[in-house]
Amino acid sequence: MTDRLSPRAILEKLVSFPTVSSDTNLPLIDWVEAYLKSHGIAAHRHPHESDPAKAAVFAHVGPEVEGAVVLSGHTDVVPVEGQPWSTDPFEVVEKDGKLFGRGTCDMKGFDALAIWAVVEAHYAGVTRPLQLALSYDEEIGCTGAAPLIESMQAQFPKADVVIVGEPTMMGAVTGHKGGIGFHVHVKGFEVHSSLMHTGVNAIMYGAKLIAWANEMNAQNSAQEPEASVADFVPPWSTLHVGTIQGGTAHNITALDCQFDLTFRLLPGESADVWVARTKAKVAEIEAEMQAVVPGTYIQMDEVFSLPGVVPEADGAAEALVRRLTGDNASHVVSYGTEGGHFQSAGYSTVICGPGDIAQAHQPDEFLSVAQFEAGQRFMQKLLEACR
Ligand SMILES: [Zn+2]
Repeated sequence: MTDRLSPRAILEKLVSFPTVSSDTNLPLIDWVEAYLKSHGIAAHRHPHESDPAKAAVFAHVGPEVEGAVVLSGHTDVVPVEGQPWSTDPFEVVEKDGKLFGRGTCDMKGFDALAIWAVVEAHYAGVTRPLQLALSYDEEIGCTGAAPLIESMQAQFPKADVVIVGEPTMMGAVTGHKGGIGFHVHVKGFEVHSSLMHTGVNAIMYGAKLIAWANEMNAQNSAQEPEASVADFVPPWSTLHVGTIQGGTAHNITALDCQFDLTFRLLPGESADVWVARTKAKVAEIEAEMQAVVPGTYIQMDEVFSLPGVVPEADGAAEALVRRLTGDNASHVVSYGTEGGHFQSAGYSTVICGPGDIAQAHQPDEFLSVAQFEAGQRFMQKLLEACR
C-alpha cells in the first residue's frame, strides 16, 4: 500500500466502508491507519470509551512544534434504510459531474482530501505542521469529538487553527448554534379515566412541559436579536420536541410519557441557564403531580450537548481560510458541527468543506466533481501556505 492514492481513490475506499453511526467504523480506521503508516506517518488511535467497535484516528505531520492546522472530519454516516437510492450507497458512482454515495458530501469527501493532504505534506515537507482528526459518533450528537481532542492534546504539540470540513461549498463559516438534547420521562399513576382526579396522567403533565416549550419559542422569537447573531436563521434559540410516546388506552390515565426535548441555542446563550430554567419548570409540574400521587416524577436525561461556534473577532482560522478561498463574506449556519468542541477547547475554529449541506443525509447523496476539485485546490494552497 505504498502507492500515493489520489483524493478520488481515497474517497472510493472510505465510502466502501458502511460506517453508519450505529455500526462499527473499525475497518475504515484500520485502513486509514495502515495507509498512513505505509507512508511513514504515525497514526494514533483513540478507542471509544464504551463501544469496542468504534475508534477515532489522528496524526501529526511536520515538525514537532506548536501552531499546527487541524483538519477535522467525522467517519460516521447516517443510515440508508428506507431511502430510495438509485445506486449502491456504499460505492462511489460518477454521473453527470456528481459523485454519488453515502457520505460523499457529509463528509468523506473532505476526509479523503485531508488524508491526501497529510500524505502530501509528509513528502513535500512543511514548516507549519498539519494534524488530521477523524472522529466517530458525530451524527448522533458529536459525542466523539471531546474525547478525541483530549487524546490529541495529550499526544501532540498544541495546534492553533481547526478547519472542520463539513459541507459549506468551500465558504468560510464562522458560527453556528449549539444544542442540548434531553430524553424526558414522565412517570404518572394509572387509574380508570372516570376517576382521573385520583390519577396522574403522564401525557397530560408532559403536555404542560411541551406547552412551556412553545411559550419559550414565542418569547424568544419576539425578542429583537443582537447584531452579533442577526445572521442566524432564525436569529433566536429554539426548543423542539421531535418524538413522543405514551399511554395504553383511551380510558386509562397514562402511566408513562416519554419525549425528546432538544434546544438549539444561539452561540453566547448559556446552556446551563436553559437547563436551569427547564428544571425549574419540571419541578413546578412535578409538585402538581406529587400533590395528587406521591412518587410520580419527571426524569430528564441529557442525550447530547454540543457547544455552538461563536464568530471570533480577527480569528486565525477564519483569516487563514479566507486567504486560501478568497471568500470574504461572513456566513453562519443552522446545523451543528464538532467545531464547537474544538473552539471551547481553545482552538481558533472555522468550518469549510466541499459540497452542499442540502445533499447531506439524503437518498442519492452526492458531492459534485467541481466541489471535490475545489477542495483539492484548497488543500494545495494550504500545503503551500504551510511550506
Ligand atoms: Zn457531517
